[in-house]
Amino acid sequence: MTRLLLIGTPGAGKGTQAARLAEAFGIPAISTGDIFRANVKNETELGRQAKAFMDRGEYVPDTLTNALVRDRLSQEDAKNGFLLDGYPRTADQVTELDHILAEQGEALDAVVQLTADTDEVVRRLLNRAIEQGRADDTEEVIRHRLDVYEEQTAPLIEVYSARNLVREVDGLGAVADVTERILSALK
Ligand code: ADP
Repeated sequence: MTRLLLIGTPGAGKGTQAARLAEAFGIPAISTGDIFRANVKNETELGRQAKAFMDRGEYVPDTLTNALVRDRLSQEDAKNGFLLDGYPRTADQVTELDHILAEQGEALDAVVQLTADTDEVVRRLLNRAIEQGRADDTEEVIRHRLDVYEEQTAPLIEVYSARNLVREVDGLGAVADVTERILSALK
């Protein structure tokens, strides 16, 4: 398994699991959210453009996000595989990823859908707000991010299911247990 996507609601634990899976498979974990946050922190032009959307819990426009991922996937370390965390999140991003992979003669191996119920994810995100102070982790913005996910990203599961790529994994429980579940779902 070398070309993987990780999909799930905000707070499902994607970032935590992405790092562990990347390690297990020897591939880079590519998180669009992390890349955007690094750009905001470094006050780049991309960061300046992305920040207002992120602070409101809106998706960054596809044109910006797609360009970022195209560039990242062209780098040497992604040639033999990658784990995308938080991309694609819109139908347009699915199309763009299809194009990028087709151009390179590659295909996805699997899409891991990490599930967690709403009460638990809100609890986790409010906790993270206290620990990390992320600007988009206020209760109001969290609820909005969950709505945006349901509206724009949840339908993508159907798209990938139709391609027989989706492995659904329960994201509740100890971190190491969830990783084990994902690894066995990918076998
Ligand atoms: P979350 O777990 O809340 O989804 P992320 O760190 O993955 O957090 O993303 C944080 C923010 O970065 C998103 O709310 C959005 O504004 C922006 N972002 C990340 N990935 C994408 C994407 N694929 N398309 C558009 N916006 C994105």
